[in-house]
Amino acid sequence: MKCPCGSNKEYAACCGLFHSGEAQAPTAEQLMRSRYAAFVKNDMTYLQETTDPQTLTSIDEEANREWAEHAQFKKLEILSAEEKGTKGIVEFKAHYALDGEDYIHHEISTFRKQAGQWFFKSGKIKEEKPEKAKS
Ligand SMILES: [Zn+2]
Repeated sequence: MKCPCGSNKEYAACCGLFHSGEAQAPTAEQLMRSRYAAFVKNDMTYLQETTDPQTLTSIDEEANREWAEHAQFKKLEILSAEEKGTKGIVEFKAHYALDGEDYIHHEISTFRKQAGQWFFKSGKIKEEKPEKAKS
């Protein structure tokens, strides 16, 4: 099975390694990809484990779960990724369908590296409402 993150690699040799805990995502972009793949696979545990504990308290886990269960994720588009020391910024578009309509979730996520491990810190959504995909 190809990895849902769009790397074109086998899942077991890509985000599967991070989801199983065999390896840690080496870059902020890899963590972002593996978190998207976790959404596709409904792996809420992985999403929690890779979120900064301070951020975790402010996240509506129930809403995330609902979204992950109902949305059909189509593809992930990484627009840019940069790292400066322990800070990483990744801009991406996640393409998904909900109730038969196509949407794009456009976000700029900030990541933080702590003790060699990347964590999702915060996300800034580019559009107030998810934009409709032009298909
Ligand atoms: Zn992957």
